[in-house]
Amino acid sequence: MAGNKGGKTALKTLPYQRWVIKLGTGLLTGGNGYLDEEIISGLVAQVAQLHKQGRELLIVSSGAIAAGRHKLGLARERRGIPFKQVLAAVGQSRLMNIYDQLFARHDITVAQALLTRADLADRAGYLNARNTLLALLELKAVSIVNENDVVAVDEIQEAKFGDNDNLSAMVANLVDADLLLLLTDIAGLYTADPHRNPDARLIPQVDRINSEIECLATGTLNSFSTGGMVTKIEAAKLATASGVTVIIADGREPDVILRLAAGEAVGTRFSPAVSRLESRQRWMLSGLSTKGSLVVDTGAALALQKQKRSLLAAGIKQVEGKFERGDIVNICDPQGVCLSCGMTNYSSADIAVIKGMHSGKIATLLGYDYGSEVVHRNNLVVL
Ligand code: GLU
Repeated sequence: MAGNKGGKTALKTLPYQRWVIKLGTGLLTGGNGYLDEEIISGLVAQVAQLHKQGRELLIVSSGAIAAGRHKLGLARERRGIPFKQVLAAVGQSRLMNIYDQLFARHDITVAQALLTRADLADRAGYLNARNTLLALLELKAVSIVNENDVVAVDEIQEAKFGDNDNLSAMVANLVDADLLLLLTDIAGLYTADPHRNPDARLIPQVDRINSEIECLATGTLNSFSTGGMVTKIEAAKLATASGVTVIIADGREPDVILRLAAGEAVGTRFSPAVSRLESRQRWMLSGLSTKGSLVVDTGAALALQKQKRSLLAAGIKQVEGKFERGDIVNICDPQGVCLSCGMTNYSSADIAVIKGMHSGKIATLLGYDYGSEVVHRNNLVVL
């Protein structure tokens, strides 16, 4: 299955299997204030080609506010958060409509996912978003993600991403992407502002984001869109820290996505600070968020260790500690040896009821059903 990265050995040889591609407003509008279907069609055609090669793709797309403003025939001058929320509500459907039609030409189904920071800060929300996006990848659908501008409240800082650069880094982390590609209307990170300084040089490779790099970003602010270079570097810092490679490139360059996929060096590439697996494992194994344990029978222990299978209710003998859906739990064998840890789809109270039972009985026993896996293989680390 596509979501089971362990099983896709043939595709693992490709550089970057799972991509999050962020498309900014400046790029999608060609700087003209309305969604330019010709530009979007060119980008979609490239994404479709990668999709046919078997790569896994998610898009984080801006452009809802610009589309809403254009549809309502309003001038750029009218600003303010509540007004932007109105524009986003009008524009989001237009944006999705364009993607839906353009991807349909390539027989690709799209899905809309609107997220806020508050959704992902909540552990159940994080797990729901992750499970949904991974399930969509397994179905070979292309998710089009945007901030849920209508409900995201700016006054509560933690509740809003505020820019799609940071949102795309969170999404890359959420789905364990190999690559986060920030496509914009500037070729990458420069040594100085290329609009003002003719000596500005493009930096092709950044091994580590230090204060020097952060200062460069402040000097190359792009005034046209919400996310200038500062938010791109913030996003790159967040994503590389969770093991994702980040590339900032000019989305207007011909075939830029295909050229990157073929291994060509385009734009600025930021190396991951740790390996992706290491980052996820480190988080899960840190014990910081471990809330309890599940004792499993010998059969389930073997299935987890040797066959990289999900943990089902039938294999669980005992539940220890008090935890909620989305918490991290240890998984131990009957002798109490800890074999793995993972994010649970059910709370301790639920597991006390469904342990030892066949998955088909979950809905009857609980009155609801979050799926047959108590811990999905995508969400566990075997020690
Ligand atoms: N969510 C906004 C939109 O769809 C864009 C935010 C951004 O570009 O950073 O218009």
